Amino acid sequence: MLLTVLGCSGSVPGPNAPSSGYLLEADGFLLGVELGSGTFAALQAVRDPFALDAVLFSHLHADHCADFASLTVWRRYHPAPSRDPRLHRLPVYAPREAPTRFAGAYATSDAERAVTDLSDVFDFRPLAPGPFHIGPFEVVATTAAHPCESYSFRITHGGSTFLYTGDTGACAPVTELAKGARTILAEASWTHDAAVVPDLHLSGREAGELAAAAAAARLLLTHVPPWTDPAEVLAEARAVFDGEVVLVEQGAVYEV
Ligand SMILES: [Zn+2]
Ligand SMILES: [Zn+2]
Repeated sequence: MLLTVLGCSGSVPGPNAPSSGYLLEADGFLLGVELGSGTFAALQAVRDPFALDAVLFSHLHADHCADFASLTVWRRYHPAPSRDPRLHRLPVYAPREAPTRFAGAYATSDAERAVTDLSDVFDFRPLAPGPFHIGPFEVVATTAAHPCESYSFRITHGGSTFLYTGDTGACAPVTELAKGARTILAEASWTHDAAVVPDLHLSGREAGELAAAAAAARLLLTHVPPWTDPAEVLAEARAVFDGEVVLVEQGAVYEV
């Protein structure tokens, strides 16, 4: 599987740095994972947005899905689509509130909302804990520790297993889901001493502990906000996890 980072700034975009967004690709299938602020610009820089075969959202905080409105405009109004968006409605795997939340973000009045549930160009598929398939990917979702409907994903393809935490506090279900994953893409939103709010985010140390408990080979750290020192987060993770630890970079591609 190839993981492309469209954006990795945590909680808000940073200076010239989109918030969360990734592409995961295997067997010619292109899966978008999150579409946070600024990622639709980054997506166009590397791919035709019509090339997306499906999109997956861990949760519906704006830093993970704000650019969905731009994808909607693109799919509805692009004058020369490379793939007919009405014949190939894009599967959107997301929490069940997604259709109303995305229609609300897109439409500007009750009248417009009444005639636009977005089903003309999207095929919404509500998430639930458990296994399912997206194209060639075997996915297992588990409920994450975050203040809204939110999931972590274990994604397997071709003998490789990849874990994406989404946003979560440290919790047993995510630790269990991560077991056996070779690569873990973990959010690390703050340093451990600053982590005063439970069930919200991982610290660098907690991300490292997650990778150590899973016996992973590699930890990719992401979702570091502009106000957090990435070097401190990296050092915390390295202090508790012996494998490779990398701070992901916008535009970088990783084999996972
Ligand atoms: Zn977030
Ligand atoms: Zn969040």
